[in-house]
Amino acid sequence: MLQDCVEVLRKGDSSGNGMLIRIKLPSGHEILGLPTENAYGGGWDLGPTWNYVVLDEKPFLVDTGKFGLGGRLLDMMKYAGISGKDLDFVMVSHGHEDHDGSLFEIAESTGAKVKGHDIYDRLIRFYPDRAADDAGKRFPASCWRCFMPESFSRKNCLEYHQTRSVLKIETIENECNLSKSSLSYHVPGHSPDSLSIFVGGEAVLVGDTVLPDITPWPSQESFFDQVREVLDPQYCSAESVYGLRAYIRSLAKLKEIGKSLGDLIVLPAHRLFYNGGWNELNLLTRIDELVEHHIQRCGAILEIVMKGAKTAREIAVEYFDGPLLKGFGILMAENEVVSHCELLSAFGDVVSEGDEKFAATGTMNFGSAIHSLKPGW
Ligand SMILES: [Zn+2]
Ligand SMILES: [Zn+2]
Repeated sequence: MLQDCVEVLRKGDSSGNGMLIRIKLPSGHEILGLPTENAYGGGWDLGPTWNYVVLDEKPFLVDTGKFGLGGRLLDMMKYAGISGKDLDFVMVSHGHEDHDGSLFEIAESTGAKVKGHDIYDRLIRFYPDRAADDAGKRFPASCWRCFMPESFSRKNCLEYHQTRSVLKIETIENECNLSKSSLSYHVPGHSPDSLSIFVGGEAVLVGDTVLPDITPWPSQESFFDQVREVLDPQYCSAESVYGLRAYIRSLAKLKEIGKSLGDLIVLPAHRLFYNGGWNELNLLTRIDELVEHHIQRCGAILEIVMKGAKTAREIAVEYFDGPLLKGFGILMAENEVVSHCELLSAFGDVVSEGDEKFAATGTMNFGSAIHSLKPGW
C-alpha cells in the first residue's frame, strides 16, 4: 500500500503543491517525491508534476518540472538531504515541458549526466534544412506539429527549446538497466519517447502513461510523417511510436510486466496526491480502466459521425462539455478526437472525407480490435 510507505517530509496544498515525501519500499529502497507546480488550471488541470529521486546506490532524478523551476527542485532535494552533486544522472520520462522544462538548468548546475530515450535525443534538436515550413525552422522537431498558435509558442517555449537543444543525452534503448535495481521500458503513445521505470520490482514510475483520475492525452499518428527522417529507421511506422494504437500497446506491455511482478507501488507523474488525498493505483486495474475509457470514447465518437460526416472540431464541440472547450481547451479536445478518429480509421470504422471530415463506414470493429492489440516490444 502506498500510504503505508509514505512519509510526508513537508506538507503542501490540497493538490500536492509544496509537498515533499519519502517513499520507503519494503526492501528498504527509497524514493523521494518532489512535486513542482504547473500552471494549466481549469478543466484540463493536471496538478503538479511529480518528479522523483530514486535513492539507489547513487541517487538519480526522474523529471525536472517546468522551465525555470530547477532551483526550486534542488532546494527540495536539499531539504530531503540530497545535494544535486550527489546525483548519478538525471533522466526524463518524456519530452513534455512539464517534465523536462528544467532539465538544462539542473544538468548545468549539478554536472549530472542526462539520460533520455533515443527518440527524445532526436526530437529536441533543430533541423532547419529538414523542416517543412518556416515555423519548423524556428522550432525543434518535437514541435513541428504543435497545435498551439506560433505566437504563443514563440513567446512561451522558445527559450526552453533553445537551451534544451544543446543538451548532451546519453540515450536509453527500448529496455535498459539504469542501475542495479532499476529498469526502464519504452512505452510510446502519450509521447513517442515515453519511458516507465521499474524500481526493484516493487515500484513503477509510470510518467504520464498511467495517471489516476484523468486519462493521459494521446499523441497523433499523423505527427510521424514529418519526423520520420529524423528518427532511427527502426521506427518505421507511425503506429509504432505515435497515436492511440501505440499507447494501447504500451499499456499492454506495462500490464504484462506488471503481471510478472507482485504488488507494485505506482508512482504517476501527476496527481499522486490530489483533492486532499492519495491516489492509490493498482497498475493492472488502472490499465484496464484506461483501455475501457478509450473504447467508450471511440464508441461515442462513432455514434456522432454515424449521424453525418463531421470534422474533428465539430465532433469535439458535440462531445466535450463547454468548460473544457474554453480558450486553448478546444485545441486539446480536437487533438484528442483526431487520435481516436485515426484509430477508428485504422480499424475501418471511419473514413476521412474531403473538407477534413470523418464519416462512419457502418462497421464497429474498434472494440475487439483494441482488445487484440498486443504489447509493442
Ligand atoms: Zn506528458
Ligand atoms: Zn505531464
